[in-house]
Order: sequence, then C-alpha cells, then structure tokens
Amino acid sequence: MSTAKPHILLYPFPDSGHIIPLLDLTRLLLTRGLTVTVSVTPENLPLLGPLLSRHVSSLNPLLLPSPDTQSNRRRTFYRDLHYPFLLQWFKSHTSPPVAIVSDFFLGWTHQLACQVGVPRVVFSPSGAIGLSMFFTLWKDLPKVDDPSDINSLLSIPDFPNCPALPWYQVPQLYRLFKEGDPDWEFHRNGCMDNIASWGIVLNTSTCLEQVYIDHIKKQVGHDRVWAVGPVLPTQNDDSTAPTDRGGPSSVPCHELMKWLDARKEGSVVYVSFGSRVVLTSKQMDELAAGLEKSGVHFIWCVRQPKENRVAGDYGKISNGFEDRVAGRGYIIKGWAPQVSILRHPAVGTFLTHCGWNSTLEGIAAGVMMLTWPMGAEQFLNAQLLVEQLRVGIRVGEGSQNIPESAVLASLLAEALNVTRPERLRAKELHDAVLGAVVKGGSSDKDLNEFADSLYELKCDY
Ligand code: UDP
Repeated sequence: MSTAKPHILLYPFPDSGHIIPLLDLTRLLLTRGLTVTVSVTPENLPLLGPLLSRHVSSLNPLLLPSPDTQSNRRRTFYRDLHYPFLLQWFKSHTSPPVAIVSDFFLGWTHQLACQVGVPRVVFSPSGAIGLSMFFTLWKDLPKVDDPSDINSLLSIPDFPNCPALPWYQVPQLYRLFKEGDPDWEFHRNGCMDNIASWGIVLNTSTCLEQVYIDHIKKQVGHDRVWAVGPVLPTQNDDSTAPTDRGGPSSVPCHELMKWLDARKEGSVVYVSFGSRVVLTSKQMDELAAGLEKSGVHFIWCVRQPKENRVAGDYGKISNGFEDRVAGRGYIIKGWAPQVSILRHPAVGTFLTHCGWNSTLEGIAAGVMMLTWPMGAEQFLNAQLLVEQLRVGIRVGEGSQNIPESAVLASLLAEALNVTRPERLRAKELHDAVLGAVVKGGSSDKDLNEFADSLYELKCDY
C-alpha cells in the first residue's frame, strides 16, 4: 500500500436519505487518512459543518451550482448543470482526485470519470436487496401482462427469495416511464453506468444481506463490491452528533430526552415515515386512531407537505387528537433527532416506512420494527425485515393496504410485548451489526480494503 494520501471526490445526491449516509462514509474515509472533496449545492453546505470542524486540512467542500426552480423539474438537471462544471474543475485542478465516489442516482458520473480518466465508485444508500433489484429491472426489463392492474405479478425468477413482485411494489422509477421516453432512457443509462462502474460501496453488512451482496457481484461480474455498513456513527463515536444528522431537530432535544427518561425500558413506539413521505388523510386518520386506541406511549414524527406541493388534507392531524393523547404521545412536526430517539432505552419498537437508512438505524438500535412501506424499494426492505431477518411485523403497505385502526392498535400493543420473538431477535441482530463495524468485523475489513484500493490507485496516477 502506498503511503501518500489519495485525493478523492465524493458526490452525494442531494436528498436527506442519500446525503446523510454518504457524509457518514466521508467521515470513515477521513479516519483512514484520505483527502476528500465533497461536492454539494449551497443549501446542503451546513450539513458538512460537524465534519469540517474536525477535518479542516483534509476535507474540502466544492460548491456546485444550484439549479433554478424551472430546471429543477427536469430529471436530468444535475447532469446538465454539474457535468460541465465538474469537468472544468477536474481539468483545472493541480492535484485532481484519483477516484469519484458518487450516489447511484448519479450514474452519469461514470461517463465523467471515464472522460477524466479516473475510476468511479457507486455509493448505494439503499440496501443490497434494493440495488440488486434495481439492476435486475433495468438490465433485464421484465414486464407485467397488465400494468393497469396494480396486483399483476412481475416475474423475476432469478432474484433471490423473490421470484415475483406485485406491480405496485415495483419501484416507481421503473414503473412510471414508458420504454423509449427520454426519462426512461436517462434512468436506464444511469443504471447501466452504475453496473459498468469500477466498484460499488454498499451501506450494509454481510450479516444482513450476504445473499444480495453475492448477487450484486454476479450482476456486475467482479468482486470490487464492499459492504461497509452501517456507516452511521456508533454510540461510542462522538465525531458526529447524532442529533445533527440531516438537520437541526424541530423540538428541544433535552426536553424530548427527559420525556423518554421518564418512560419504562422498551415501552415506547417511535413512528416515522422518513424525510419525504407525507401521509394521505386516510392514512393519517387510521394511524392516529390506532395510536389512540392502543394505549401505548409513542413519539410520532409528522411530516407536513412542502409549500410548493398541493397540500389538500395530506399530513393533517385530526382535530382534538393531540389533546386526547397528551402525556402519552409526543408529536414532532418537522425534523426528529431520529437516531437519538431510537437509541434511547425507552424505545422498544419502530413503526417505519422502511427507508434503508431508517431500517439500518432501527437494526443498529436493536428495536423491533412494524413495517409500513410506501414506495421506492421499501417493500423489499420490509420483506427483508419480516421474512429473512425476522425482526419485523407487517402493518401496512402504501395506500393499497391501510390497516384499520383497531388492527393497528392491537399490533402496536403486541409489539411492546417483551416476549415477542422479533424483539429478542432484534437484540441479536443489533449485536451482529455492531460486531461487523468494530475493528476486525466484516464491514470494517471491507472498508479497509476499499480504502487500500484507493491508496493503490494513487500509485497509478
Ligand atoms: N431523519 C431524521 N429525522 C426525521 C426524518 C428523517 O433524522 O424527522 C433521517 C433518518 O434518521 C434517516 C433519513 O433521515 O437517516 C431518512 O432516510 P430513509 O432512507 O430512512 O428514508 P427517506 O427519507 O430517504 O425516505
């Protein structure tokens, strides 16, 4: 291994669920002595704050131009705007990066990497199950007989543990566009660029997804696939305050922690559907009624629609609900300090949309999951949690299967039963993933191998 510090470019896709884990990976690479440039649009620069304060000499932000609101609507706007900008930056840099590590939504960066003569590494903020499904779909282009029937089965015979998927559970990106349309072409090319890229870093661990990691190696035809996760800071790692992940909390953390301190161990359900999902009025009503009938203590992080979206009744809490559950329910309207909540010993169960970061954060905290996937690859993550890892119970599925409040209430209460096998299994899985990231664990080894391979690149350029 060369001892000179290689310089690499990390380029996150600017959505919370993508940028948070790539910044976690940045932190880990900085601890391996690399010099890192992170390219972000100005609105995301504050997210680099905690890292910048600790790594002034080895971390450089690169401010990318922000798209105007008009071009923001086009699928290709990051490529159109950032490709020429980055190309110019590479050409004028006195010691340009030896590799680009970029989000899988930025497949076109493979073309940029080829043009400037460096390898591109895909970072997947999804699990291996999601990424290998993404590869299967866009590579093989399987079809359903009747796309107007949401329950029509899509046959994917070679996919591990899932030979068919109901059409509504297939990620929207694949379902929405018509073959041959410019958007369809853009996504297909992006996926093929991901497959053709030099390497892949996965935010997962072999103890969670060995079969899918192996499947990805088969799909791309090489072994430069590193499972380095979960990349989120461990409890003992104070380099990034968990409460700062993705933005400041909308409630005072000390007040929230005090509220949790007063609850019994494992007696609280945390309810959140991630950074993007806004519930429909029907989903809101059943969930609120279910929480009310259940009698359980809960924290519910309620997302409201952004002003520029059609609001309607989306994300609206029914009248009087907050008063009726006062003391028993803690409602956060806005951004929750999710990792800190999940890690509090009072929290026993997580009702989640199964976004991959939430999935990992729940597993790493050792809590049982109630699954209610909403879209993207979340149905697959739910399947992984329930059927393979056996730490979850199904509760709902998007707007197709909205649980009745009485059913929800009994599931919520049951999920706090300490003798549930899923709760015991959640503790085992917690130990397994923590074992993977400590020195000598499988994820730690993969991370070192990945960092070593970047040091080797340094020799060639
Ligand atoms: N998150 C948070 N507070 C919130 C909502 C989300 O800290 O109020 C974080 C959460 O901990 C996770 C990320 O945002 O790290 C959401 O990513 P995930 O993959 O779970 O779902 P997405 O938002 O991409 O659907």
